[in-house]
Amino acid sequence: CVDPNGATVQQISVCVRKRPMSRKEENSKNLDIITVPSADSLIVHELRLKVDLTKFLEHHKFRFDYTFDEECSNALVYNHTARPLIKTMFEGGNATCFAYGQTGSGKTHTMGGESSERFRIAEPGSTPWQPGMSSRSFFEIYGTKVFDLLLPNKPMLRVLEDARQQVVVVGLTEMPVTKVEDVLRLIEHGSKERTSGQTSANAKSSRSHAVFQIALHMPDSWGPYGKCSFVDLAGNERGADTQSADRQTRIEGADINKSLLALKECIRALSRQSSHLPFRGSKLTQVLRDSFVGGKKNKTCMIAMISPSMSCVENTLNTLRYADRVKEL
Ligand code: ADP
Ligand code: MG
Repeated sequence: CVDPNGATVQQISVCVRKRPMSRKEENSKNLDIITVPSADSLIVHELRLKVDLTKFLEHHKFRFDYTFDEECSNALVYNHTARPLIKTMFEGGNATCFAYGQTGSGKTHTMGGESSERFRIAEPGSTPWQPGMSSRSFFEIYGTKVFDLLLPNKPMLRVLEDARQQVVVVGLTEMPVTKVEDVLRLIEHGSKERTSGQTSANAKSSRSHAVFQIALHMPDSWGPYGKCSFVDLAGNERGADTQSADRQTRIEGADINKSLLALKECIRALSRQSSHLPFRGSKLTQVLRDSFVGGKKNKTCMIAMISPSMSCVENTLNTLRYADRVKEL
């Protein structure tokens, strides 16, 4: 695992993380087809059949801001992805971190849910923000519906947009966080609620987007001063396209596809500083509108998770092509 030291952090960074082979994949003699030759490149060695049924390898090479192999710890990944975003929030910007990839590729593991490794975060130091007013919220977007994950029965919430295009999730629980250390600790632990939300919610969790937000408020000002959002995206696998999928699964799949496409377009609009922001393309991008406006003050990081095994090659290539497009101008 190469520690990509000293590199500068860009406004939009796109990284890829390869998870280790699982016990199951190893037992079934699945091949690891991903190599990470440097801290910013990655190769997929796809095993294919020619017309005459002889096998050959096709190599797909990709470049990203950072590529993390299976040896990289959460702490190292964190240092190059989420950490710079925390700084953005303390400087008054909107920072957003997306975990993208197929179900089982490591999104929740990376976002902190099940990790036993502790993130280490530097103190914010000399920021204009004084401790005292900050809040956290945690919600889930399933299809076009939004549910509050900080309340026991996960009530459904309405999303409204006012005349100035400000988007409000009506009645969203905002739990107070009073000390800087609390803010840091919450991010450090990925938030307990998120974990329980994920595990209690069976397979459905992979069909919804989970959004964990921390907002810093200044006294006497309208709206948050800075915000940090961690988004554990719905699995991007294509299962829903197959004919065997039932109606509900097909609808879910179509909603997920739509929101992931809208997300890509919104990040691209941010990177181009485009005045046209297609945030109404999905509930996800509508709710995260603040992440895509505000110009240079905002930072976005996408971590695309991939499985190493040959059996996932199709989803892996889809994930890498999507991640590639997010940054391509
Ligand atoms: P997703 O949220 O994308 O569906 P998970 O985060 O639940 O995937 O990961 C699937 C499984 O793989 C979990 O058992 C998780 O602990 C394991 N896993 C994922 N990434 C890693 C990693 N980098 N190192 C070790 N185990 C991992
Ligand atoms: Mg998950």
